[in-house]
Amino acid sequence: MSFVIHGLAVSPGIAIGHASLISHAALEVAQYLVKERDIEAELARFDSAVAAVRAELGALRVEAGASLGAPAELSAFVDVHAMILSDPLLAEVPRQLIRERRCNAEWALVQQLEQITAQFDEIEDAYLRERKHDIVQVVERVLKVLLGHQRKAARRVRDGDLIIVAHDLSPADTIQFKQLKIGGFVTDLGGATSHTAIVARSLAIPAVVGLHHARALIQEDELLIIDGTRGVLIVAPDQRVLEEYRLRKTELELERHKLKRLRSSRAVTLDGQEIELSVNIEMPQDIDKVKEVDAAGVGLFRTEFLFMNRDELPGEDEQFEAYRSVVKALPGKPVTIRSLDLGADKTTRAMKGAGRIEPNPALGMRAIRYCLAEPHIFLAQLRAILRASLYGRVRLLVPMLAHAHEIEQTLVMLALAKSQLHEARIKFDEHIEVGGMIEIPAAALALGPFVKQLDFLSIGTNDLIQYTLAIDRTDEAVAYLYDPLHPAVLRLIALTIATGRRAGVPVAVCGEMAGDPTLTRLLLGMGLNQFSMHPAQLLEIKQQVMKSDCSLLRGRVARLLRQDEPARLLEQLVKINAH
Ligand code: PEP
Ligand code: MG
Repeated sequence: MSFVIHGLAVSPGIAIGHASLISHAALEVAQYLVKERDIEAELARFDSAVAAVRAELGALRVEAGASLGAPAELSAFVDVHAMILSDPLLAEVPRQLIRERRCNAEWALVQQLEQITAQFDEIEDAYLRERKHDIVQVVERVLKVLLGHQRKAARRVRDGDLIIVAHDLSPADTIQFKQLKIGGFVTDLGGATSHTAIVARSLAIPAVVGLHHARALIQEDELLIIDGTRGVLIVAPDQRVLEEYRLRKTELELERHKLKRLRSSRAVTLDGQEIELSVNIEMPQDIDKVKEVDAAGVGLFRTEFLFMNRDELPGEDEQFEAYRSVVKALPGKPVTIRSLDLGADKTTRAMKGAGRIEPNPALGMRAIRYCLAEPHIFLAQLRAILRASLYGRVRLLVPMLAHAHEIEQTLVMLALAKSQLHEARIKFDEHIEVGGMIEIPAAALALGPFVKQLDFLSIGTNDLIQYTLAIDRTDEAVAYLYDPLHPAVLRLIALTIATGRRAGVPVAVCGEMAGDPTLTRLLLGMGLNQFSMHPAQLLEIKQQVMKSDCSLLRGRVARLLRQDEPARLLEQLVKINAH
């Protein structure tokens, strides 16, 4: 039966494909098709992992029997796990999946686990329902053995038309999609500017989040349509709807194709103002997309993504190689490398204290606060960035600054990193520019120390909105309050641009507002001339810039900024965009 679920539109476009229900465990394992001739070997790999776990459990049982103080429950627990391991549901069905569907062993096991746990969730008896944890533990044991043998297995999915359906995805999960070819994704949880949504936009794949119960309502392999522009998910569409969306998808692709003609045009307004359009990237491999749109440079390199999905922090040399590869790929163009912005929704196993439960992670130990508290991590990154600066035009950008003393401490750390490199006789750009992100309202309201001590500013509107309106950007329950057009938000942005301009300090916007074509004229009218966004958004923003006249916009936007009434403000914006 066909039905429609509404959520938050976070990444535009249309995707048509088959559902792949993903759980956390599934994301942790490789998913790929085994070649016909390798099936026997894959079965043997699975069998030997099961045998290894059986031996492990046997040893545990002997240990439990031998140690006098061991509780009787321990033997019973080992027996239960051994029984589960031998049950055909776990010992046989995955083998069928390997043989018949050519799934790799881990994938087969996780799929079967999901089937079984879903059945357990339906059991009324609470005690029996809870037994599913035993099954999960047994499967995890087998997975551990399998992964131990093949930790680096290349992850591949079946087709490009897969649509990932998950209850929740962390930014660390989502970034892994960069290596996969997937059509789009939908989640039950998440806000429009959560980093999960941001990564979707950077991948330029349609996505809808905040769907509440989609994961429970959708079945594996079911046909889905994601309308990422309207925030709609259509499950099991009928033929007529399917045809309609196929047509719209083709039209959108044509429009996108037409925009490509603007690649080599200059981003100049009708009244001759040159506007700098740069891009935001998460990984060095994003650089190909940067070249596709011929961006002015990188306005934001979110380096924390290099730290995710791993057990060890990347060392100085590894970071240096990553930064240098980006810098060398863009000769003559500025590359703005942001120092680590870990914390809140961007976490990593490698981070010290990662398991710590923070009462309010968005207001807690993140970004520059974390770096200043962990000087060896910060210094290693600063040295890596400095070393990369020898190969092009590198700028350092520091997130989440609010206090004058944080700016001072950051500059002291930078001076220390420089002196360490001097001592080691390693060359770098002595005059590397240092900028600060304006994403805490306090910073926007008291810009004195920023414009005195820093070379440039970049407004992080995602966090600025979160902190100004006191709403967690990752929480779909308050997503309806997330409003870039709130008069308070607009005034803070305008104030920052104007203060920077008066002080002769360049100001950019690198939050999601910079890539929203309905806000381009508003920002131009505030005097903004540097925008940084996902590569996929750049040509559309360039089109807006080329159609705009800043000399007309300034007066109109000044009037809009005096408006307190949201409805009137919106009316004025619609007029500004229409003429
Ligand atoms: C922002 O807050 O607007 C920003 C660009 O940084 P991030 O989204 O990575 O927090
Ligand atoms: Mg931010």
